[in-house]
Amino acid sequence: MFNKRVKIKELLTQEPQGQEVTVMGWVRSFRNSQFIALNDGSTNNNLQIVAELGKFDEQLLKRVTTSASLKVTGAVVPSLGKGQKMDLKATTIEVLGDSDAEKYPLQPKKHSLEFLREIAHLRFRTNTFGSVFRVRHSLAYAIHKFFNDKGFVHMHTPIITASDAEGAGEMFRVTTLPFNNPPRNEDGSINFKEDFFGRATNLTVSGQLEGELGATAYGDIYTFGPTFRAENSNTTRHLAEFWMIEPEMAFYDLEDNMNLAEEFIKYIIQYAMDNNREDLEFLSQRLAEEEKQLPQDKRSEMGLIEKLEFVLKNNFERLTYTEAIDILKESNHNKKKKFQYPVTGWGMDLQSEHERYLVERHFKKPVILSGYPKEIKAFYMRQNDDGKTVAAMDILAPGIGEIVGGSQREERLEKLEARMKEMNIPAEELWWYLDTRRFGTVPHAGFGLGFERMVQFITGMTNIRDVIAFPRTPKSAEF
Ligand code: ATP
Ligand code: MN
Repeated sequence: MFNKRVKIKELLTQEPQGQEVTVMGWVRSFRNSQFIALNDGSTNNNLQIVAELGKFDEQLLKRVTTSASLKVTGAVVPSLGKGQKMDLKATTIEVLGDSDAEKYPLQPKKHSLEFLREIAHLRFRTNTFGSVFRVRHSLAYAIHKFFNDKGFVHMHTPIITASDAEGAGEMFRVTTLPFNNPPRNEDGSINFKEDFFGRATNLTVSGQLEGELGATAYGDIYTFGPTFRAENSNTTRHLAEFWMIEPEMAFYDLEDNMNLAEEFIKYIIQYAMDNNREDLEFLSQRLAEEEKQLPQDKRSEMGLIEKLEFVLKNNFERLTYTEAIDILKESNHNKKKKFQYPVTGWGMDLQSEHERYLVERHFKKPVILSGYPKEIKAFYMRQNDDGKTVAAMDILAPGIGEIVGGSQREERLEKLEARMKEMNIPAEELWWYLDTRRFGTVPHAGFGLGFERMVQFITGMTNIRDVIAFPRTPKSAEF
């Protein structure tokens, strides 16, 4: 029976007292025809299996190669060797799946992250990715737990949407029309009435608008789903397919929104610290090793664990966009013309280099910026009385830049309609959205947290392609 196996992580917490157990996993190494390091994915720690000399058939032992899968039964005894507290003294070894170690792409040496991306189907079997994806899993669980414990309703918003109000031009079209000869209107444009849904549809860029419909019924909701952006940004922080958490709360203003976002981020970091300590320590060491190759001034001031502890202990710095522009403008960095995009003044959109300057050089901690010029923000954000700014907030994290984008939403129908008109957003198409403002509108707010950016922050991985199993980026959709 396969279910009888014990997972290695759990076994390693037991005391070795000669108890009989069965383990299953993949061979990481086989030394001196005697010592098998077995890994089953539950932890980076391998179980040392001792195949006593002379006790097993030569032919069988030849099949114990790196990456072969085994089922081993034996007695758990205190280890004679250093480096592990227990051995499994094998009584039976069964090869479940042979593997030609010569052809196996993962050799027992250090591989670059770039190389491992090319064999993303196997990289889970390395310590680095073992840790990254166990932490990712844990964070996903913590997110549901956080919201569930607060009484939020988890809402599944649609992946195929007809509204292109938000990200026009950045969306992936969904269609079943033939490419070579699509039906056309008289003016030559494509006739989407003939398409599967009888209209043009796209993959969603955000579940927010639908989330607001939920919030104005349940009070508090959140979504946690995939989102898609056809933006051609080849950066270490952008994916074409990424996962986003979007809470939306009725009876919340911008400050409530900031408080929730800060509490939420700290909660999931704390959860990982409490439940993934071993993996975080491994990742912390990995990052320190990686940074040794960088010049001194490019290295992080704190280790990974230290950084996470620091974030937990300190309040996020809160300031307005206007204050941030002043800081950036007055900075030596700007005066010495070290920004690629010079700080031109109020009204400009902040580039990633500006955001990172604020968090990494100036405040040296996460920052919440609020009160952005309305021109650089979306139509649904609540208009401030100054006529110039909206109740938007972004959270910026060291090493990442923007990690959260949110706002209080415009709940006043006339103001919302006026803004939509100014921005050429077709109100007819969003009739259902505007209905929330017609029938019992309430102040409400919400934000979007990019899950992969959060995983990057907590695991210390510098490239977003290394925190999602199979990254989708421009010109790349392997696996
Ligand atoms: P950026 O300026 O970094 O491109 P954005 O302003 O486009 O971000 P939003 O539209 O506010 O981002 O999306 C909400 C959150 O989703 C962001 O704060 C970020 O964490 C995440 N995010 C946005 N675009 C991407 C992407 N292409 N890949 C991964 N995460 C993303
Ligand atoms: Mn973007």
